[in-house]
Amino acid sequence: MPELPEVEAAAAVARHALVGRTIAAVTTHHASQQRALPTRAARRVAGRRVVRVERRAKHQHVILDDGAVVAVHFRMNGDWEVTGSVDPLPRHTRVAFTTNDGVRLCLVDSRALCTVTYHAPGDPPRLVLGPEPNVLTADHLRAALSRRSGAIKPALLDQRIVAGLGNIYAAEALWRARIDPAAPAQSLGEAPLRALVRGIKTAIADGFARQGRYRNGARQWPFKVYDREGRACRRCSTPVQRVTQAGRSTYFCPECQRSAKIGKRASCAPRGQSPFSSRTPLR
Ligand SMILES: [Zn+2]
Repeated sequence: MPELPEVEAAAAVARHALVGRTIAAVTTHHASQQRALPTRAARRVAGRRVVRVERRAKHQHVILDDGAVVAVHFRMNGDWEVTGSVDPLPRHTRVAFTTNDGVRLCLVDSRALCTVTYHAPGDPPRLVLGPEPNVLTADHLRAALSRRSGAIKPALLDQRIVAGLGNIYAAEALWRARIDPAAPAQSLGEAPLRALVRGIKTAIADGFARQGRYRNGARQWPFKVYDREGRACRRCSTPVQRVTQAGRSTYFCPECQRSAKIGKRASCAPRGQSPFSSRTPLR
């Protein structure tokens, strides 16, 4: 799934393709996108000039010169591909924006789960999101986590707590902060909280610096802990473990993310039951 650095890299592609240009046509090429962006909405986009493309968390907003917004979310594996307007459409194109000077920006998505919606002038998309990682503070995180039950790792995936943090960077941030992903979210003391804020910022900044894993090729895998099950921890050489939390894979080092100071591993699970469930199918 594209995460925040990947979506920022994608938004840069959309900016380069669209900003300052006038959209001649927007076309949909799959039933679910036709429902989300009906013909009458597509007609209102045609003839408008794109003034900017904004990214907020994993949402991309194409802002038109009349104030309307075309909101794009890649979901599981969407991406942009830029072609000329007379080239064949790339495979799995779901929505295509064609400009009046021959540029075509195609949203390609093999699973067709991406969403593209039109928001009329004065009625922008309403997003309920926490702060972006670059402006996240320990005060915000403390307050947001104080209302959460359950383990810290799933809590970090809640977009109302931190905007744009996904499964990969949540694992990376917890490894950097040496925090057990199963630790109760409310249990983090002042020092682990601050370490976690630093870990989130550093993990995301690392992703931005690499322009996003998505565009550099998924096989480079330069992560500290994510997808490294059984391989040596980059800090202490203990084999990295994988467990399932809230239906998602979590990778962690059982040695340096032991977090004795912030509570026992089993403290967030009923007696006799592991806080992790390895029976849940991995996704
Ligand atoms: Zn380790």
